[in-house]
Amino acid sequence: MVGQRFLEALTEAEPRPPGLRITVLAEEPRRAYDRVHLTSWFSGTTAEELSLCDDAFAAEHGIDIRLGDPVETIDRAARTVTTRAGHTVGYDTLVLATGSYPFVPPVPGHDTPGCFVYRTIEDLEAIKAAAERARVGVVVGGGLLGLEAAGALTAMGLDTHVVEFAPRLMALQIDDGGGRVLRRKIQDLGVTVHTDAGTRAIVDRAGRVAGMVLSDGTELATDLVVFSAGVRPRDRLARAAGLAVGERGGIVVDEYCRTDDPHVLAIGECALAVDGRVYGLVAPGYAMAEVAARQLVAGPPDPDRTFTGADLSTSLKLLGVDVAGFGDAHGVAEDCVEVLYSDPLAGVYKKLVIGADGRLLGGVLVGDAEAYAQLRPLTGSPLPVPPEQLVLPAAAGPRGQLALPDTAVVCSCHGVAKGTIRAAVTEHDVVDVPGVKRCTKAGTGCGGCVKLIGKIVTEELAAAGIETRRGLCEHFARYTRAELYEIVRVKGIGSFARLIDEHGSAEGPDADGCEVCKPAVGSILASLSGGHILDGEQAALQDTNDHFLANLQRNGSYSVVPRIPGGEVTPEGLITIGEIARDFGLYTKITGGQRIDMFGATVDQLPSIWQRLVAAGFESGHAYGKALRTVKSCVGQTWCRYGVQDSVALAIELELRYRGLRSPHKLKSAVSGCTRECAEAQSKDFGVIATAEGWNLYVGGNGGTTPRHAELLASDLDHDTLIRTIDRFLMLYIRTADRLERTATWLTRIEGGLDHVRAVVMDDALGICADLDELMGRHVETYEDEWAATLADPERVRRFVSFANAPGVPDPTVRFTAEREQIKPVLFERLEVRGR
Ligand SMILES: Cc1cc2nc3c(=O)[nH]c(=O)nc-3n(C[C@H](O)[C@H](O)[C@H](O)COP(=O)(O)OP(=O)(O)OC[C@H]3O[C@@H](n4cnc5c(N)ncnc54)[C@H](O)[C@@H]3O)c2cc1C
Ligand code: SF4
Repeated sequence: MVGQRFLEALTEAEPRPPGLRITVLAEEPRRAYDRVHLTSWFSGTTAEELSLCDDAFAAEHGIDIRLGDPVETIDRAARTVTTRAGHTVGYDTLVLATGSYPFVPPVPGHDTPGCFVYRTIEDLEAIKAAAERARVGVVVGGGLLGLEAAGALTAMGLDTHVVEFAPRLMALQIDDGGGRVLRRKIQDLGVTVHTDAGTRAIVDRAGRVAGMVLSDGTELATDLVVFSAGVRPRDRLARAAGLAVGERGGIVVDEYCRTDDPHVLAIGECALAVDGRVYGLVAPGYAMAEVAARQLVAGPPDPDRTFTGADLSTSLKLLGVDVAGFGDAHGVAEDCVEVLYSDPLAGVYKKLVIGADGRLLGGVLVGDAEAYAQLRPLTGSPLPVPPEQLVLPAAAGPRGQLALPDTAVVCSCHGVAKGTIRAAVTEHDVVDVPGVKRCTKAGTGCGGCVKLIGKIVTEELAAAGIETRRGLCEHFARYTRAELYEIVRVKGIGSFARLIDEHGSAEGPDADGCEVCKPAVGSILASLSGGHILDGEQAALQDTNDHFLANLQRNGSYSVVPRIPGGEVTPEGLITIGEIARDFGLYTKITGGQRIDMFGATVDQLPSIWQRLVAAGFESGHAYGKALRTVKSCVGQTWCRYGVQDSVALAIELELRYRGLRSPHKLKSAVSGCTRECAEAQSKDFGVIATAEGWNLYVGGNGGTTPRHAELLASDLDHDTLIRTIDRFLMLYIRTADRLERTATWLTRIEGGLDHVRAVVMDDALGICADLDELMGRHVETYEDEWAATLADPERVRRFVSFANAPGVPDPTVRFTAEREQIKPVLFERLEVRGR
């Protein structure tokens, strides 16, 4: 990778050295490729997509690339190298970019068939072939690469173990607290983690791996072993040629990347930098590549372009878990203080290390690394907002807006500062993230900065008065959610794979979508095509709540909410709910939405609880979904002296009509039997208030952090007109809103606002009402209860386990205490400041 970056820097440099001829001698059978995203090869990214160097690049610059023929010897006196095939090539300057090799601990049996390393595409091909015949896999090493390897084995369906010598995972990048949270999250995904554990021997049976003996004598049965216990610089060639190497390996170089031979440079993971470190990350390697290219182009050393060291910041998604460490992550600076937020059961840990003078020194983020892209560039600067605003969950208060200076390095892989990204927009007419990538290379390394780049581009365009597209994410940069909805509807697309293939950006390592587009498209597909939310590909698109058809609560337990339309429930129904809650020891609460919520169920209890609820005639209340929640009602005309219409009957009818309707955000409704408004219909997405003449329909209200009163859409409607108007209003909203946009925000955003909506749904101004009616009709006809359908399918029921590799074993960390004669979750949340 670093060799390729060197070639790019050299060929981009001005002035180009006269008579420059470049020969690349490569050991691997293919051109340079992206090792950082290597794991995506298992999920279908091809070797071509990972490639960093195409035919055009080599041809344009006249570079002679010779593959599959490694250099065996260097003759420094003659200034030649000789390859394995016996070719001798002369040089004026030799650049060594030989990288590193995976370290395999010399344990007995380490070379038994079934033992692998994780570095090249060929290694992955071998692992994949072995995994097809295997049931269990062990990864030795719980660092970054080890966890990536574990993720790949798990995805291939193996029972996976990680064996780590240190007391925690990712010991280099994160601290004890972060390690604990990461371990728990990774175990939740079915990987068994063994820390403080060494490898004593590999068990060989009949010439193949059959097990592994750990340092405490435990034997793990396994079919394959992947060693990922660190890397060592490949300095053998340099050593043999008499170049200086470090005590623990690495070709010694100065700040200009020169070895002790002025005609030989060394860059990347094979080099021992002037600060005494061998860097195993791409960003420092790329910085070295730039420095080395500069020496060749500019002649005498350029004091402004030196490499004296780099920080070890990393941000990744490992097995779907966000992990980031930056700057002084371990808080070693004298007198520093640490601000901690930790909620291990929700799987979030955040730590900021702050110097005595208030400067941000570093941090660790696990489970929610959203803030990384903004925090890392601020390392070394005073915090612009109080630290708690940066670590508390978004729901606890507004996040601090961090104004980054132009000098802040946004993409650390390619060393691109915010000012360069802004200049791409203002001076090179770039309008989106792919444009920034092409123009500046920012965002093309590890990808951790892509979100921040998007924000900078949007801000810059807005400042220039240019209207920005509201593209869903990088994978669907050209389309808003509303446009994708239309595409899915018109073309009858039924799968995420087809949509991204035909209309998204399916290139590169993140080709299978992200946490923004997957649930958004999942919701579009669910609202249009019906079908069970856990069917086939749909299941993988859902977030945690939908995944288990229940609401995840703070201590890792779930709540169960049966639908009770209109809040009307028979004594028998109440008794059933009470018996279930008693038998499973659940906390019960009557909610503000007229339902009974039962809290404290574990994942494996959910099917049994629902079995009894479904048998008693209850169905899923969709409290977990971006879907209709409740239609609340007052008692109405039947019982109330003031009532002028039957609000309960209407609320029941509306709830049954729209139950299960998937939408961009949750939907709430209410019906009041007279203008006294006991059901608070005007604070709902759609609310109905009875009048002597009929029904008034209000839309676009909500409670929450920014409450908003609903607006009157139409008055004195008869029953059928009311239903038809609500049908059309909801379908128009579902069709045109952005992801996670409540009706209130949607109404204030869309051109023409309420008047436009009224014209469309009541006067058919766009001529789409027949279409909207048809869509709602299909929803009503095809509705089926998700829980009843889940219980009828043993395959679906099998998902409801706490541990994939130990079905039937409840999660021992989900704990409760007692309060007011009911259970209460045991929480671990805390915000803490501690000094050093
Ligand atoms: C699975 C995986 C995930 C990673 N994830 C990240 C990440 O998220 N972030 C990050 O910063 N880094 C990551 N890395 C590390 C990153 O890939 C390396 O830092 C980077 O590849 C180093 O580049 P390099 O050019 O020094 O070495 P390499 O990319 O390994 O290139 C060295 C090349 O030299 C060739 N070679 C060696 N000896 C000879 C010889 N005698 N003759 C000819 N050719 C020779 C090798 O075959 C190899 O192709 C990851 C690595 C792996 C394997
Ligand atoms: S809204 Fe009117 S009908 Fe309903 S309970 Fe209140 S007073 Fe009675």
